[in-house]
Amino acid sequence: FHAPSWVPALPMNPPDSIPISDFMFDENFGRYPLGYSKAPFTCGLTGKTYSALEVKERIDYLARGLAKEFGWHPNKGSEWDKVIAVFSVNTLDTLTLAWAAHRLGGLQSPANAAYSAAELEYQLKDSGAKCLFTCAPLLKTAQEAARKAGIRNDRIYILDLPAQFGDCKGLKSVNDLIQEGSRLARLEALNWQLGEGAKRTAFLCYSSGTSGLPKGVMISHRNVIANTMQITAFEKPYRERKKEPLSQVGYVENALGLLPMSHIYGLVVICHASVYRGDGVIVLPKFEFTTFLESIQRFQIHSLYLVPPIIIQMTKNASLLSNYDLSSVWSLFTGAAPLGKETADDIHRIFPSWSIRQGYGLTETCTVVCSTSPDDIWFGSSGSLLPGVECKIVTIEGNEVTGYDQPGELLVKSPSVVLGYLNRPEANKETFQDGYMRTGDEAVIRRAPSGNEHVFIVDRIKELIKVKGHQVAPAELEAHLLTHPAVNDCAVIPVPDDAAGEVPKAFVVKSPAVGLEESDRMVARQIQKHVEEHKARYKWIAGGVEFIDVIPKSPSGKILRRLLRDKEKESRRAK
Ligand code: AMP
Repeated sequence: FHAPSWVPALPMNPPDSIPISDFMFDENFGRYPLGYSKAPFTCGLTGKTYSALEVKERIDYLARGLAKEFGWHPNKGSEWDKVIAVFSVNTLDTLTLAWAAHRLGGLQSPANAAYSAAELEYQLKDSGAKCLFTCAPLLKTAQEAARKAGIRNDRIYILDLPAQFGDCKGLKSVNDLIQEGSRLARLEALNWQLGEGAKRTAFLCYSSGTSGLPKGVMISHRNVIANTMQITAFEKPYRERKKEPLSQVGYVENALGLLPMSHIYGLVVICHASVYRGDGVIVLPKFEFTTFLESIQRFQIHSLYLVPPIIIQMTKNASLLSNYDLSSVWSLFTGAAPLGKETADDIHRIFPSWSIRQGYGLTETCTVVCSTSPDDIWFGSSGSLLPGVECKIVTIEGNEVTGYDQPGELLVKSPSVVLGYLNRPEANKETFQDGYMRTGDEAVIRRAPSGNEHVFIVDRIKELIKVKGHQVAPAELEAHLLTHPAVNDCAVIPVPDDAAGEVPKAFVVKSPAVGLEESDRMVARQIQKHVEEHKARYKWIAGGVEFIDVIPKSPSGKILRRLLRDKEKESRRAK
């Protein structure tokens, strides 16, 4: 399956010998003219902003500041010698920092801002981080993790936030580094070999993939450039149409920058594709319902980028929405987890003029594989393939499906498919085969009344759980549960949840050490608390703990999750 014929082809092969920072800010690579662009990032709380030309300058100064601070040189060492970890809510400079690292031939490894110290420590160690950039509200957690990962306190830096978030006296901030850099000499240009941008990792994001623990996903410069170009080409027809007849240059808009910049959706779709097209991103550090609505009104936001749980919250609070002027919005784009048809219908009823669009993608495909277009909305569908994407659907028996409405695993080929997982040869062998990425998602292709082929994601074959769009790896929770004295064996599966989409539920075989006088409810609560004390909130066992005699396993010892999921479905049906 390919992109439909109405989708414009890519204007050129995605450049493979330049860093992302050049692609994003050099007009030779097709970006919207810098002088006519909206300010790439504006704080949605204070209105503080930097123009595109200022951002370009800040990247340059910050790269000089970082080079001096760490003794880094653009053309010495590999990206693995220059790993910058980021543990922060969204800030105005999160991407300035990434692009400055790229200018130096380094990489950024962003961590989820909800992480506990232990979760962050895992990523710091696994990624080989050399320094850590954090923000005031997360400093304590960041310091604890850094200490355990062997990162000195003077290698911790601060991303600036509005004053109400507090300050961090004694630690250098990104602004300090930019000021220092502005007084330093220009850096030597990068002298990359042909094709080097397709080999070098630019971002190391974490995903558990089809099974096991979170793994570092090596996303190359070319991967990000490719998906930015793919999204831009896909969106071109309607953006051309929206162009003001009298405008010299074209059409730009304000986009909501609420989703975490640490997750591939926020990172690529919002922070790269939107900025490349000249749009302005209104940055919000965290989700708070009224601030979210106020910022849409205040900044006249045109495009909302959301995840299903926020849309559900909107539909459940329709009366609150009418207190705000949201008339600037014309497009609502959702991804990271399935948007149920009922929710799409509900939000459409409230805002009939909005274009409610869904996209589908993964960290491992450097985001978007397919998306609905404003001209071809079909609720429940994840839309048409982007230009340059090919996909196959393969049954459990390994046979390729060629017709419509036949389910199987979705396999994706695209210039945005990543380099692989860091130091995980087995997972790489399983996931990346013959140029295709195995998504672990079950899909069907259907033909729309428009004649276009649409991708529908109908189920998840892999063990991953998605809570509010965040990844929860069952293997990680199972390993943690086994450290509790009451747990002899366990398995974690997703169960449906109205607000979060899914939440984890644990099946537990009780240890013989548990006294008879202890009720199941008490033991279950202790087990849940054990998770609450050590794991990010979205990983908590909100689906409950159920005690069983034995965890079903294959002869090789693999947990048969499908049996547990079927058992769960059965007992929910019976209720
Ligand atoms: P992540 O790497 O965190 O973006 O997670 C990718 C996974 O999220 C996919 O493999 C899907 O299981 C799920 N996902 C993302 N977008 C959608 C969507 N539109 N519909 C259904 N599942 C989705």
